[in-house]
Amino acid sequence: MSDNKNAAKELKEKLFAKKKNGVFRMSDDELKACDSFCEDYKKFLDDAKTEREAVKTAVSLLESKGFKEYKPGMKLTAGDKIYRNNRGKAIIAAIIGSEAIEKGVRLCAAHIDSPRLDLKQNPLYEDNEIALFKTHYYGGIKKYQWTAIPLALHGVIIRADGSEVCVTIGEDEQDPVFCITDLLPHLAGDQMKRNLGQGIKGEELNILIGSRPFKDDETSEAVKLNILNVLYEKYGITESDFISAELEAVPTFKAKDMGFDRSMIGAYGHDDRVCAYTALAATLECENPEHTVVTVLTDKEETGSDGNTGLCSAYLKYFIADIAEDLGSNGRTVLSASQCLSADVNAAYDPTFPEVNERNNCAYINKGVCVTKFTGARGKAGTSDASAEYVGRIRRLLDKENVIWQTGELGKVDMGGGGTVAAYIANLNVDTIDVGVPVLSMHAPYEIVSKIDVYMAYRAFAVFIAD
Ligand code: MN
Ligand code: MN
Repeated sequence: MSDNKNAAKELKEKLFAKKKNGVFRMSDDELKACDSFCEDYKKFLDDAKTEREAVKTAVSLLESKGFKEYKPGMKLTAGDKIYRNNRGKAIIAAIIGSEAIEKGVRLCAAHIDSPRLDLKQNPLYEDNEIALFKTHYYGGIKKYQWTAIPLALHGVIIRADGSEVCVTIGEDEQDPVFCITDLLPHLAGDQMKRNLGQGIKGEELNILIGSRPFKDDETSEAVKLNILNVLYEKYGITESDFISAELEAVPTFKAKDMGFDRSMIGAYGHDDRVCAYTALAATLECENPEHTVVTVLTDKEETGSDGNTGLCSAYLKYFIADIAEDLGSNGRTVLSASQCLSADVNAAYDPTFPEVNERNNCAYINKGVCVTKFTGARGKAGTSDASAEYVGRIRRLLDKENVIWQTGELGKVDMGGGGTVAAYIANLNVDTIDVGVPVLSMHAPYEIVSKIDVYMAYRAFAVFIAD
């Protein structure tokens, strides 16, 4: 090489941003640790397909690591591990730091609800001796993707007497499954003329649940009767009990390695359990942190974060105020000094649909955890927009600890966009930035992430809460 060529190479090394695939920046040992971490993540995905199951799984993992249920007024000292279960649908875990609580907490936030199909309150009906459930979809879905795939039902039913039944059916190999039917192509001429958004309409998302009548020629609605009889025998419920139920239809797919090289994971609900699990895993392994660690796994993000289990509610603020008071401070002071990684997935560049992204500013699989300064759409509407100072702090930390990361926006300016819980936390006067794992086919029944990005999200949380 000529001297000039050498100089150019050196200058490039010094001046250009580094955007290499994570594989080139990880040792064989680290790749092995990454793949083994992802085995546990896959198990979590299969165990926790709904927000309620994610809370249950989190509680059992937290308790196995010595976390105790928190009650306001508890005497708290450095090193204590606590959690608060919010109505079985959201959870906050905390580890008391050695620093004064006035120095703020290190907050990680992710959501554990995913797009799905909820049953309506009067779901069950019969049409020409076929029994079906009416649904109301939850979160942003492309409705046509949810037909002709096997579905399971998860949730709870509160009976008339107040007793509770938990339901999970369709996940066990021996269980029956459910399905939304679609038209055969031969008769879909009119349907195919609809636009894609209308290809399957909301009221066509009806779940097939049975077809055999109760054996009595005289009665009407015998298939519905037979279904109710099966449900009564299995769960002790009657038709009106659906009114006080939350039943969620989700794909039965299990989490699987994807690709000949097993570099990716296909599963239902990476959004946002991939950030929830990685934040939880980092919290479970954290011992005696300097700053108090608070990790919140929240519900209702997919419908706008409203409701008492969503992050627009005061439950996180109250929890921090409660522990602040127990430690002789107050919530306002603690929140104002706190820092947050708001963890949610981002859209990964998809070679089949390159036109939606601006390639210098989108996330790519295998290039590490994605740090996003601002979200929002059409002029950044709805974003909390992290300050340059805070982005600088996170950037220095990740680089210092060799966490592989990238920056990326969700889509081209004016293409669309989306929000996260970051704004609601930033509104509490907390320094907040979005981080997360790039996802292919986000919000589809089967989403894809790269193992390297999952592992780097976990490492980002681990170094953030330990710092
Ligand atoms: Mn999300
Ligand atoms: Mn989402």
